[in-house]
Amino acid sequence: MTASPPDLVIARPQGLYCPPGDFYIDPWQPVDHALITHAHGDHLRAGNAHYLTAEAGRRVVESRVGPIDLQTLPYGETVTHRGVKVSFHPAGHVLGSAQIRLEHGGRTWVVSGDYKTGPDATCAPFEPVRCDVFITESTFGLPVFRWTPQQEVFDAIDAWWRANADAGRASIVFAYSFGKAQRVLAGIDARIGPIVVHGAVATLNEAYRQSGAALPATKKIDDATPDELRRCLVVAPPSTQGSAWIRRFGESSDGFASGWMQLRGARRRRNVDRGFVLSDHADWPGLLQAIAASEAPRVIVTHGYVEPLVRYLAEQGLESGAFKTEYGDDEDAKPETADAAVAEAAADARADAGDAIDDGAEDRDDVA
Ligand SMILES: [Zn+2]
Ligand SMILES: [Zn+2]
Repeated sequence: MTASPPDLVIARPQGLYCPPGDFYIDPWQPVDHALITHAHGDHLRAGNAHYLTAEAGRRVVESRVGPIDLQTLPYGETVTHRGVKVSFHPAGHVLGSAQIRLEHGGRTWVVSGDYKTGPDATCAPFEPVRCDVFITESTFGLPVFRWTPQQEVFDAIDAWWRANADAGRASIVFAYSFGKAQRVLAGIDARIGPIVVHGAVATLNEAYRQSGAALPATKKIDDATPDELRRCLVVAPPSTQGSAWIRRFGESSDGFASGWMQLRGARRRRNVDRGFVLSDHADWPGLLQAIAASEAPRVIVTHGYVEPLVRYLAEQGLESGAFKTEYGDDEDAKPETADAAVAEAAADARADAGDAIDDGAEDRDDVA
């Protein structure tokens, strides 16, 4: 019997490390060689000596960290670094996001970073990659998280915007400036009215447009007329909620675009009129679908609701474990613990069932 080969990726204090290749993936402390899955702040940090990322992400990476020693690789192409074959494959999370495939000594590992399996007009779709070990996130790794089809969400935003515009008030959507904001812009019906974006969103829009993404025309607040301010859609980062910048729109309705908006508690915590359930992370079925498609007998979970997913996979007969990382959540408003999320979802389900019973009672009254 042969001993199992040493792991191709291990957790070190600086980040996830590939020993034979002597490089890190999405390190949280400065290192010599950093492979980057995508340009969100918890995965792409300044201070590394050399960077390698997917070619599709070049513009957004540069717009996030400025001038760096950056090499890029088109999706699907391979480079060999100290005997490790490295390639990037679409993760469907944001523009340029990639799963990183490592092959060495006959073994294949995939580090998926953040990913989603659902559609997104602003980036290449998630591509399953077969491997021996699949390293996955678990941001929404509880069975309660199941996304509604994105077109229904965009239709809801459009209807809300149209009604607000008719009533002479702005419609403010809070969305993370990198990824979510562009997905919202690409998904809504731009014929409804003018679109105003915050400067942080405008910067990323520019990187997206330079990368070939089709986004509708947007303007800065200073370029909008008073009439336009009264019927526009506004896309702004969550940090602007309650700011002087937001108050310039006068009478308005606001909403938040995030997977957490599936929970009433999250909508209350964000204190917004509307919650639009739109996530750039996989929901529970999406996580399981990606894991199954990898055909990996071993799965390592990095961040999110780690324990529930590790336990579930072990129950399915997979070898499962976790890496302690410093990856965070691009979408806040989350419940503190898995138990809290499950409790909130259960309370929502009871409330929904209560609504159904009330409706039923009204029906019976009508018959009577
Ligand atoms: Zn991310
Ligand atoms: Zn992340």
